[in-house]
Amino acid sequence: MKIQNRIALIFTFLTAGIILSLSVFIYIFASESISASFFHRLEVRSDIVGHAALIKNQSRTSIYYDIKEKHLGDLPYEQHQIIWKNDVKKADSLRKKLPLPQSFYDAIVRKQPARFFQNDTSYVGLNIIQSGENIIVLSSAVDLYGLEEMENLKKLLVTGFFISLVFVFTFGKFFSNQIFQPIRQIIRNVKGISAHNLNQRLKVDNKKDEISDLSHTFNDMLDRLEITFEIQNNFVSNASHEFKTPLTIISGEAQLGLSVSGISDIAKDSFRTIFRESEKLEHLTNSMLSLAQTGFDGKKEQWEEIRIDELILEVKATADQIMPGNGVMINFDELPDNEENLVVYGNETLLKAAFSNIVLNSCKYSDNKFVHVVIKSDETYVIIEITDEGIGIPDREIAQIFVPFFRASNTEKYKGYGIGLPLTNNIIKLHQGSIVVKSEVGIGTTFTVYLPFG
Ligand code: ADP
Repeated sequence: MKIQNRIALIFTFLTAGIILSLSVFIYIFASESISASFFHRLEVRSDIVGHAALIKNQSRTSIYYDIKEKHLGDLPYEQHQIIWKNDVKKADSLRKKLPLPQSFYDAIVRKQPARFFQNDTSYVGLNIIQSGENIIVLSSAVDLYGLEEMENLKKLLVTGFFISLVFVFTFGKFFSNQIFQPIRQIIRNVKGISAHNLNQRLKVDNKKDEISDLSHTFNDMLDRLEITFEIQNNFVSNASHEFKTPLTIISGEAQLGLSVSGISDIAKDSFRTIFRESEKLEHLTNSMLSLAQTGFDGKKEQWEEIRIDELILEVKATADQIMPGNGVMINFDELPDNEENLVVYGNETLLKAAFSNIVLNSCKYSDNKFVHVVIKSDETYVIIEITDEGIGIPDREIAQIFVPFFRASNTEKYKGYGIGLPLTNNIIKLHQGSIVVKSEVGIGTTFTVYLPFG
């Protein structure tokens, strides 16, 4: 899951937790206060009824009831039970009828507030003593209005909770999207920087925030990378250049020695060996120079749109010059219908060198047997398959053929330095492509090169 979505979700969960706790708190608080106020109202009525019952004078009793009627009114399902102190029978029958706990009766005896709530009904009990008489009043009523209030509050809180969740998630997503916008921009820019445009830098705005810090850090790292690449590149280039002059002199001197008349056969053999080996060294130095140059110097290379089918024809022409009588055959049957699928953005010289290396290897390691080259494409890549019927590469060694100076164990018969394929691999990687090798000893080898088109 993307960090952006994770932040929006965490934000939503946290806020949901807070809103839920707040809603529960509001609900409990409102319920307690409504119920306390109802108990109080019921106790006032219970008190009036009790005092009215204790008055012997009928006319004064009716005054109590008048006041209650006029000023307080009846509560829904309001009921009062009066128990005289000695009326043990009535007390027992009520105790059986009503669902009141023992603690409720104990509180009445101790003249403490006795309140109880069950099945939407509120119960209160009062112990009234007046002029030597003692009665207990048990009153009950249903707070219809309060129950409705609580139901409405519950609906309001639940609906509010879900609506606020939707809002919080939407805003959370929007804000995390805004926060990550500059990071996405950096990712896009960094993706655009590769070995051939290592001189590019990220745009840094003047804000002194973490994002511009990150861009600065990337740019510093790219500076260091570019310098390191250049030092390494220059070192190999300079070393190769420095080798070239003495090598040319050595081979020239060897040729001169050979042309002198009257020297012994041993001396001639020795000059020939010096000449042959210095030629080899010269070739090796040139290859190393190319390997160093393919690496990174995007500024010097010219990048353009190249048609791969045309490039492969040029490679074939080069092979014909270097290895006349080779068996290279190009198969155009699988060419894509859309010509744009054959166009690669890259450097022609480098790509030609890369494909020449693979094709010439195939000719070399198959002793000029047939080499089939197929050009095709899929949705993303131009695919070039080069198959030979040569000596093959031992299974355990396939993974190492792109390591500089590596040569497989079955190549003693063939000349080589182990530089061609590392160079080819560098070039293909520089073009955002890849190489897949399949090989079987004694049967042949297939190199499949994938290059992104467009
Ligand atoms: P080399 O100068 O030795 O050919 P490369 O770098 O071009 O160096 O190739 C590295 C090694 O990969 C070779 O030494 C060889 O063992 C193996 N190799 C490359 N291409 C082929 C092929 N077509 N058939 C068999 N082996 C191959």
